[in-house]
Amino acid sequence: MPQHKRTCQDCDSTFFSSYGRSIQCLPCWKTDQGYTLSKADNALIVTQEKYTELDNAQPANSASDSDPKELARLKQKVRNMQSEKDALALQVKVLHAQVAQLRATQGASSSYGSGLSRGFIKKLLMLCHPDKHDNSDLATEVTKELLSRR
Ligand SMILES: [Zn+2]
Repeated sequence: MPQHKRTCQDCDSTFFSSYGRSIQCLPCWKTDQGYTLSKADNALIVTQEKYTELDNAQPANSASDSDPKELARLKQKVRNMQSEKDALALQVKVLHAQVAQLRATQGASSSYGSGLSRGFIKKLLMLCHPDKHDNSDLATEVTKELLSRR
């Protein structure tokens, strides 16, 4: 005879019964009928409680671990993040190339400044230092320019 998995309406325990319509587990039914519970009944109650605990714990675990829909959703998310990462890596490459290009043009445009030796620039800096010119705008500007060409 097939056993039906039911939930007891009295104690909320999962129990098995050959009668599909049973609404009470055996110990609860016996109690209702005025029977004294035997050692076997008490053991059954403990078993039912343990089973119910495990039965209730399983859906929570499987929801994230083995739910195929959730798994598919997460796999898609990983794929999206990977293509996003690839796009960003490409962007970084392009930016690196642009930086290299800018450095090259900057080097070319400041070449006329490189005609001044480091020592000469140092002397010019000593001469036009803002401290010696009441912090004038001109002195500050020329000092900045010289510092950038050192
Ligand atoms: Zn019960």
